Amino acid sequence: MVDLIGNMVESIEEETGRIPDAISVVIAGAVDARRGIIRSSPNLFGGTEIEFSKMLEERLGKIVYIENDATATAISEKIFGNGKSQDNFLYITMSTGIGGGVFINNRIYRGSLGMAGEFGHMVIDPLGPVCGCGRRGCFEIMAGGKGTLRIAEAMNTYAKSPYLKKIPPEKLEARHVFDGAEAGDKECIRVIDKVVENMTRGVANLVNIFDPEAIMIGGGLSNSKELVVDGIAERLQEELKTMKRNVEIFRTNQITVELSPLAVVLYEKEMPSFNYERIIREMRQKIAEKTK
Ligand SMILES: [Zn+2]
Repeated sequence: MVDLIGNMVESIEEETGRIPDAISVVIAGAVDARRGIIRSSPNLFGGTEIEFSKMLEERLGKIVYIENDATATAISEKIFGNGKSQDNFLYITMSTGIGGGVFINNRIYRGSLGMAGEFGHMVIDPLGPVCGCGRRGCFEIMAGGKGTLRIAEAMNTYAKSPYLKKIPPEKLEARHVFDGAEAGDKECIRVIDKVVENMTRGVANLVNIFDPEAIMIGGGLSNSKELVVDGIAERLQEELKTMKRNVEIFRTNQITVELSPLAVVLYEKEMPSFNYERIIREMRQKIAEKTK
């Protein structure tokens, strides 16, 4: 994988004639960004520890940044997105699993091993189904993509839903259940209702722990903005009504996700040749033009 990325960088340099000052890599997995170490990334490197930054720096002779994808998107929300004016916020990604990033007192919070923000393995139902981590009723088995498919199965939705019947069983993904609900399929709506209820329960726990000003929701399932983002915002009011919270809920923009490797470099302010303020100002202008 290190060789593959090294080759990619070299071929981009050849094609464009432009030589980058730094390389920033964002991956799904447990990353210790301060030490440049990948602790485990089951889909890319397996469970072994890798001194990723050191290896790629030796190969390319440039500074290399490595960061977990959800943490990187939280940083990108701070620099380019909805977090610009927030000191305390959470980024929650809802796709197959659930992950996240934490901003506290205007700084990213990585934890002692760089593994903070693993919201997906917070238990929200101790009697719930067994999660991949071995515990029962984790947030992501109750509410993420995995949770959605599991709930649909338990409700026998595949057999009953006219919308899902049109999709070959082997191609069925969680987003189809969301699409079905958006198209008005009553069986899919029942499933999504339950999923959003579970999502809100997890989000309410996080709000109680972190007391954030805002929550940004991203990941594939957040594409159903009305169902997911607006649905959680609505239920959260009810869930926390005795706690007097006033939390803004945003959906993370796709551009913010795409710019997350750049955001990681800009956040650290370690490149002597960079005019940080100018780069950030120009990028924000470009984003504003693109999202008009
Ligand atoms: Zn778990």
